[in-house]
Amino acid sequence: MERNFHCPFCHGQLYINERIILSAENENGHRGIILLTPDLGDYRAIKHPAFEIEEGQHTDFYCPICHADLIVEKEDKKFTRIMMLEMGEEYEVLFSQIAGERSTYVIGDHSFKVFGEDADENTNFWGEKPNY
Ligand SMILES: [Zn+2]
Repeated sequence: MERNFHCPFCHGQLYINERIILSAENENGHRGIILLTPDLGDYRAIKHPAFEIEEGQHTDFYCPICHADLIVEKEDKKFTRIMMLEMGEEYEVLFSQIAGERSTYVIGDHSFKVFGEDADENTNFWGEKPNY
């Protein structure tokens, strides 16, 4: 399936060699590069072992091109927001900034999808139910 991911601010392409590339900062203020798989709900992240992110820690994500802070807050929860293009349609992709929390939301003009086992509790802040 053809997918592309880009920054909502500079529209720079974040999807290279089948990975989403983001700049991240952990709770201790350490910064590093993180590569994410494009399979929504799959949370395997590739990073240098010296850049430590512990389960439950909040992590900030930034565009590696324009350095914009990609955070959005919904109901006191913090998410990272990037854009996805798939089959000519544009979607917002939100994922939790808490390491180890598996919740991803994909929001299109006419669709709302949820991925990840920890996602259910957050589904009502758009006033919509997920459609599978
Ligand atoms: Zn950017």
